[in-house]
Amino acid sequence: MKIHVALLLLAFATTGVLAQNPASISNSATVELPPAVNKGFRDLAVLDPTILVDIRYATTNNFTHSKIYDCPRCLLRPDVADALIKANETLKKRGFSLKMFDCYRPRPYQQRLWDKVPNPDYVTPPSKGSMHSRGAAVDLTIVDSNGKELDMGTEFDYFGVKAHTDNLQLPAEVLTNRKLLRETLEAVGFKGIRTEWWHFSYQSKKYPLSDYVWPCR
Ligand SMILES: [Zn+2]
Repeated sequence: MKIHVALLLLAFATTGVLAQNPASISNSATVELPPAVNKGFRDLAVLDPTILVDIRYATTNNFTHSKIYDCPRCLLRPDVADALIKANETLKKRGFSLKMFDCYRPRPYQQRLWDKVPNPDYVTPPSKGSMHSRGAAVDLTIVDSNGKELDMGTEFDYFGVKAHTDNLQLPAEVLTNRKLLRETLEAVGFKGIRTEWWHFSYQSKKYPLSDYVWPCR
């Protein structure tokens, strides 16, 4: 219980939004879900409040140093959300849990990102469409029972060789932590990419690009 409270407080500190008390949630059918469920998305923090959410593009703490999203939210396609909850269950058995940096990225927000950084090495052009804009990609890491991020060698959105997943010239602990992230997500249907240790796409289904932007209170 202490851990739950700590995680909730941390979630509040990092997102400014206090997730619902897990005790008040018996199952997803009885939860009053936000309107986004009607647009073909699910809110991961509502479905599993033990997953930490720190949507960096809703803050200035990202590589663009500017706020791209009007407010934070971790929305995903239903199957993608279910797979992450499964991955989180596996991690919890070992005293860890997931922390999300980015989830569904509406195409209008992808456009804002592109307007800031029009470089295909760093940002997928909106015309091509990011897997994030399909609601099928996530940027994430693993935290311990105190909510502390495991050492993955670099920060989220560090663009350089140090963040590459085929770079083995890293401390053993970093390689072990990355392996845990990769194997946990691959086991539920995700696949990583070579250049960003934090990015994974859900493989089982093809979802359309979406322009839907969630409302801010
Ligand atoms: Zn990503």
